[in-house]
Amino acid sequence: MRGVKFVVALFVAVAIGAVAWAAPVSVSIVPAVDKAQVTPSEGARLHFGITNTTDRDLAILRYTTPLGGFESNLFAVTRDGQPVPYIGRMVLRLAPTAEDWITFSPGESIEAMVDLSEAYDLRRGGTYAITFRHPIGVRELDATLEQMAPNGSSLAPQLEFVESNTIEVFVDGPDTVPEEAPLPEFGYSGCTSSQQSSLSSARSSGRSLAAKSYNQLAGTSGSSNSLYKTWFGTYTSSRYSTVKNGYYNIYYAFGRTWNYTCTSCQSGVIAYVYPNRTYYVWICPGFFNYNSKTRGSFLLHEASHWTAILGTDDYTYGYSNCLNLAKTNPSAAVYNADNYRYFSLYVP
Ligand SMILES: [Zn+2]
Repeated sequence: MRGVKFVVALFVAVAIGAVAWAAPVSVSIVPAVDKAQVTPSEGARLHFGITNTTDRDLAILRYTTPLGGFESNLFAVTRDGQPVPYIGRMVLRLAPTAEDWITFSPGESIEAMVDLSEAYDLRRGGTYAITFRHPIGVRELDATLEQMAPNGSSLAPQLEFVESNTIEVFVDGPDTVPEEAPLPEFGYSGCTSSQQSSLSSARSSGRSLAAKSYNQLAGTSGSSNSLYKTWFGTYTSSRYSTVKNGYYNIYYAFGRTWNYTCTSCQSGVIAYVYPNRTYYVWICPGFFNYNSKTRGSFLLHEASHWTAILGTDDYTYGYSNCLNLAKTNPSAAVYNADNYRYFSLYVP
């Protein structure tokens, strides 16, 4: 019996090793300024490199890396051991289009200088530990991708949870920095009257999606809630509470005054928020191409990002990617904004 167990354990160890070796991309980071002590702005700059470790042509989703700036919380940053929160934009996109992919050949590396200061506040003095830690959307470069029209249908990326090396930088800076002044409340900025009325009905619809979601979770025994399992994966009581409380907080958020800025955006972007600016949302023209229920679900997605409400990330977007995330990584699914959006849309 012992012998059998040993063989099984050995097999599992080999299998895990094989999975680790199979990661198609690797990421490394290097401080841009090689000095024992750096200024805050020097400390925020690093070289980011991503390498295709396979013998095949690959494509990666640019916005799952910092190669095109920050659209989500891509790095784990600590200052003297304490987490430094992400303060950059969380961008809501739908299916990727051809222009969102970067292709690279076997063994090729792509490098870029990245400025973390738009995403993390590194102004205070201390020792910062910085690691890239986020899923990267990867696909083998095939004919489908090469022929895809810019507005083509969704191509599902494979999500690779990638972690880089950790770098430490010692920033010579003050102990405290001035707090950001609170934003004024303005209701709507740059929105036409018809956009304002669309937003107002989207908000009612988002609020009712949040209420229905909370009621479904509160009124169903967790371990037998199949809708929950579809969108958030294997049941555990702690993950179930995270999701249920999350919807409660989102519902509460919908009861407060929101501030909408209607603005122009990159193609493919629907809306964005900053996690630390609760109740402020930036709305792109593409938002208005959808019906009221879908617009409500977009606002629900955005509300889930605010740290004060739930603090979700954007690991992936879209129906099949979110289903897949729930199956393969439930602890990521309960912190993925679009999984909250889809669950809410499927509550009867
Ligand atoms: Zn988002």
